[in-house]
Amino acid sequence: MPGLLVRDVDVVLTMDEASRVLRNASILVEDGVITWVGEGRPKEAADRVVEGRRMVALPGLIDTHTHLSQTIQRGLVDDVPLMKWMRVMAELSGRVSEELCYMGILLCLLEKLKNGITTTLAMAGEYGRFDEVELAAKAVEATGIRAVLACVLIDYQELPSPGVPAGSRISSPEEEVRKAEEWYRRFDGGLGGRLRVFLGPQGFPASSPELLREAAYKARELGTRVHAHVAEAEVSQILCRRRYGKSEVEMLEDVGFLGEDSILAHCVQISGDDAKIIAKYGSPVAHCPSSNLKLGNGIPPIHTLLKEGGTVTLGVDGAASNNAQDLFYEMRLASLLQKGVCRNPSILPAEKVLEMATRDAAQALGIRDIGSLKPGHRADIILIDRRAPHLIPHQRITSHLVYNARGSDVRTVIVDGRLIVHEGRFLPFDEQGFLEKFEEMMTQYLGETRVRHG
Ligand SMILES: [Zn+2]
Repeated sequence: MPGLLVRDVDVVLTMDEASRVLRNASILVEDGVITWVGEGRPKEAADRVVEGRRMVALPGLIDTHTHLSQTIQRGLVDDVPLMKWMRVMAELSGRVSEELCYMGILLCLLEKLKNGITTTLAMAGEYGRFDEVELAAKAVEATGIRAVLACVLIDYQELPSPGVPAGSRISSPEEEVRKAEEWYRRFDGGLGGRLRVFLGPQGFPASSPELLREAAYKARELGTRVHAHVAEAEVSQILCRRRYGKSEVEMLEDVGFLGEDSILAHCVQISGDDAKIIAKYGSPVAHCPSSNLKLGNGIPPIHTLLKEGGTVTLGVDGAASNNAQDLFYEMRLASLLQKGVCRNPSILPAEKVLEMATRDAAQALGIRDIGSLKPGHRADIILIDRRAPHLIPHQRITSHLVYNARGSDVRTVIVDGRLIVHEGRFLPFDEQGFLEKFEEMMTQYLGETRVRHG
């Protein structure tokens, strides 16, 4: 008998190529895979049934840029300029214990899942004295989320630190790529395919052009992808021009970094020509509107990228620069910002934004069997309670999801056919007990670091 039946769902937004919308529909899941989706009920029975009445089903949301353990610094570094933010973050991160780092990652994944994010692309690397990639892999296993870990590669010191002036060489491209390959061989394809590994050069100037080139080359050799920060702030763009006489995007083109397999985070400070180059190579852009605004970096020309035929997806970014791990906020903000900037309300309609957070993101990550609800796809499904006052009237559900829904409207989350959140309750571990322990550890950490809080 098949494993799981989600039945009698009011509306199923399949997000498939035809963007089919089904009413009073059901979804049958077997061994983590969707075997049937359609109106009515399938002929087969299932040994577990999830009731979908008064619910809207859609594919789990896909977050394409984040930093998992930043939940530890959430709210501690607000309202300061980027360079100061980076300095304080480096200071605070240096004092995090391995156990607290792991707890911070768990908190981040717990929050994402409860908000309907079933896949995340997260940067992780060496974190002081310990291995954040290993901790993240462990947390992915413990929470049941689907994740791609982009292993952070850095060969230049970006900010001054004790004994190491800014701009010093701290590693070599060969050494960084060797580490990445080790992480890749250890973790890629793990947890039944739920865990993937990309190469994640931090981005210029922490990653030299040589490192960016070597990382892209190695990723292609291994059959995986690369992910980097690109033109997030004006300062890196100015430095790149001064050093190489070209923009960051032009530099990336020169070193062979761009392609459908290179996902670029942010791209705030790009020109119209840069947008053309990005679109020409098909590099997906992970747009993180809240983070770009909160750090005062600006608003990227998303409308131009789309007009040029580029692919844009959405990221929540780390909890120290957003601070929510909620893709519903990002969907709303992404659309409203572009409408405002272009003074054109037709730009980025709700349907397109929802595609960016599901189908387009799956394509960007190269994971072809998620992002839509259809037979043969992995069963990453979320159910949203539509009885709330802010989601009524019922006729325009896509509009509500983008312009007025929030993560807390998500009631049920299924990843790879496994029920992770049911009727609002997180199932993999005791959420309340975990939160209490996290708070205790944070009190101790803040006492030690003497950060004012409250
Ligand atoms: Zn980032």
